[in-house]
Amino acid sequence: MENDTTLPAFPFPAYGLTHEEWQTALKEVFGQPRFRADQIFKSLYKEAASGWEAFTTLPAPLRQTLAGQAPIEAMRIVEAIPSQDGTVKLLFACASDGERIESVLIPSKDRMTQCISTQAGCNFRCAFCASGRLGKTRDLTTAEIVAQVMEAVRFLSGREGTFTRPSNLVVMGMGEPFDNYDNVLKALKILNAQKGLDVGARHITISTCGVVPGIRRLAGEGLQFELSVSLHAPNQDLRKGLMPVSRRWPLEELIPACAEYTRATGRLVTFEYTLIRQINDQPRHADELIALLRALPCKVNLIPLSPVEGFAGRRPDNASCLAFLDRLMRAKIPTTMRNSRGGDVDAACGQLRLRRLATSSGEGGNTP
Ligand code: SF4
Repeated sequence: MENDTTLPAFPFPAYGLTHEEWQTALKEVFGQPRFRADQIFKSLYKEAASGWEAFTTLPAPLRQTLAGQAPIEAMRIVEAIPSQDGTVKLLFACASDGERIESVLIPSKDRMTQCISTQAGCNFRCAFCASGRLGKTRDLTTAEIVAQVMEAVRFLSGREGTFTRPSNLVVMGMGEPFDNYDNVLKALKILNAQKGLDVGARHITISTCGVVPGIRRLAGEGLQFELSVSLHAPNQDLRKGLMPVSRRWPLEELIPACAEYTRATGRLVTFEYTLIRQINDQPRHADELIALLRALPCKVNLIPLSPVEGFAGRRPDNASCLAFLDRLMRAKIPTTMRNSRGGDVDAACGQLRLRRLATSSGEGGNTP
């Protein structure tokens, strides 16, 4: 993308262009010096300007032209729902067609993490995910992915009274990022750019349900993004039932692809493993997981299941969760356990949108 000078036709969303593309567009489309790209990136990302009239370093005629040719608004926050634990769920409407998507802000002691979406709905139908039940309406554009973060910056800055941006991004919201690879990667490069918002690559985590070609492609990009894989089962039979993606890319392809990612980037892959009572939380499952991951430098993140409409699985008791954790730790697999946050605001991916759709259509939910 860095050297790609093929420009889209204008009008085109301001957040959809890399710094290099802005340089080219300014020169070739708007007849301006390339250095104006620095001014535009500074106002767009370091000041979170939401209208071209605020780009006071630009000549007034250029501001007027860009107001017509490069709209800034790609997303609008229609609802911000705070949770008792400090998490804030943001429900967005896309400017182009009103499509609803969501994002979550998760504060902790020393960071503000934003979980972002990449698609409206999702086609992958993981068993305990509300987004998968909706099916995919469409991919989000690069600008819509970037705009989720910039709208969050404006939200946080308004709340704090000073410029505040998420310190960490996790691409773990609605949608499978590798099913929208080009738009996701371009958006993350824009958000990572030093002249822009400058979120460090190691503070950006891409989470996949196990799309092997995407993992292999990312391994070859020469980037330092963190990779997280939703594993949720220690063997292929069980995983096929929980994660339909595994029928297409089974564990025997997934694990080598993760090893390749680690070899190519030097970054450890994190495996997400949701603990479900009596389904995948038994000592034999822990032993299978240890055997599966033993040869791979990696981390495991255990998440006791949160209730999801339409999925009958239950959360294990604390003793079972701790026993599972202990077994992995004894096998020297770095493992953490976290509770999902924001349960009182439907923070698991897709749940809020699912509820809003169900409410607006007069249905009682998507429970099969
Ligand atoms: S967990 Fe992710 S990939 Fe799976 S259905 Fe939900 S949004 Fe899609």
